[in-house]
Amino acid sequence: MSLPARTAAIIAVGSELLTASRTDTNSLQITGALNAAGIEVAFKAIVGDDRDELGAMCRQAMARVPLVIFTGGLGPTDDDLTREVVAEVLGLALHEDAAVMAAIRARFEARGLRMPEANRRQAAVPAGAHVLANPNGTAPGLWISAGDHGLLLMPGPPREMRPMLAHAMEAWVTPRWGGQRLRRRELRIAGRTESRVEEIAQPLYSTWVSSPLPIETTILAGPGVIELHLSVRSPDEAAADQVLADAVAALSARFPDDLVSDDGRSLEQVVGDDLRARGYRIAFAESCTGGLATSRLTDVPGSSAYLDRSVVAYSNESKIDLLGVGEDLLRAHGAVSEPVAAAMAEGVRARAGVEIAVGITGIAGPGGGTPEKPVGTVAIAVAGPAGTVVRTCRFVGGRGLIKTFAAGTAIDMVRRYLRGAAPDLDWAARPSK
Ligand code: AMP
Ligand code: MG
Repeated sequence: MSLPARTAAIIAVGSELLTASRTDTNSLQITGALNAAGIEVAFKAIVGDDRDELGAMCRQAMARVPLVIFTGGLGPTDDDLTREVVAEVLGLALHEDAAVMAAIRARFEARGLRMPEANRRQAAVPAGAHVLANPNGTAPGLWISAGDHGLLLMPGPPREMRPMLAHAMEAWVTPRWGGQRLRRRELRIAGRTESRVEEIAQPLYSTWVSSPLPIETTILAGPGVIELHLSVRSPDEAAADQVLADAVAALSARFPDDLVSDDGRSLEQVVGDDLRARGYRIAFAESCTGGLATSRLTDVPGSSAYLDRSVVAYSNESKIDLLGVGEDLLRAHGAVSEPVAAAMAEGVRARAGVEIAVGITGIAGPGGGTPEKPVGTVAIAVAGPAGTVVRTCRFVGGRGLIKTFAAGTAIDMVRRYLRGAAPDLDWAARPSK
């Protein structure tokens, strides 16, 4: 039988995992451990405590992948079936293991308890299986080598499963299927649409897939920030890192002003670090975003080092009272306009006495749009030592998405301002003056 090498399936067992109240978190831990050893998860499944379902899923997994990992269903009660069903599928007899029996008994005795008869089930071991000790519970794990297949059975409680997983990876999985290291890098790019990023990056991707150490690429689009994930599999970690470093350099060169980070930092972390490096403080004047841009900045621990204040000025009166926006300006251009965004930023900057200030005013919808200023029109200004920069953006989506886009774009405009880069954004009109 030829099975795809280095792929695994995960089967989480437990009827409670099929209800709305419990989440299968073990499979994420297992996936992390497998990926770190260069093993890919082909699929995962959640099965209730049901003999037929579990048997069918076990057969199906074995037909598709060489490595099958189970969690759950190793308890002492009648609904814990994993051990029995796997033995049955493999045609292995179960026998009571004296050492396991003694360990379980000792665990109860250490607490002054008599072992319930039901726990005897946990000492049943399929012929030829290796027992994996469970220092945190009674259910031992099992490793079974069956021809081309390896099967790993672990208990469900995460604190019991985790140490066993680490041990089983080292003792059984990595020596047989591992050896490949998966190395990855993440780039975050702002101000570009997903299709624009694809278009620019595609010529590079196509050379990477055919290189001796091929790079796998994934593009993840979020509102305002696109993530590019690059990964390389190799037994040689240093070689993989070098290939990735070259790829990151090539991509960075194509997005000189748009590259937010290549080290996993979020946009707000990067802006926070940039402000801190310059010893600058920042203030916000937010209208349509209702404080969202400020809130995102405060997601970063230690942001009090650079965030001074935020004024949420929704009404025209508050823009006049709290920010000193001129009544004439509001009348002449409307609240959603570049002059008002600039006056909001400059107003809060003067009042706070900070180096950098942001003004955001727009139409989040669903009402309030006009032909010249449709829903999604947002004017964003950044005022600072180099003067005031302002752009009018057009965002699409519902109210929540427009607010999210606007907040992210405002933070990105601060990032660009601090680097002396013009806010050339895919969703911003050219400067109107
Ligand atoms: P079991 O090994 O089936 O006796 O599992 C017992 C307990 O472990 C369950 O009640 C759950 O709380 C927890 N558990 C089981 N499977 C998982 C899983 N895949 N992810 C997270 N917790 C789990
Ligand atoms: Mg269970």
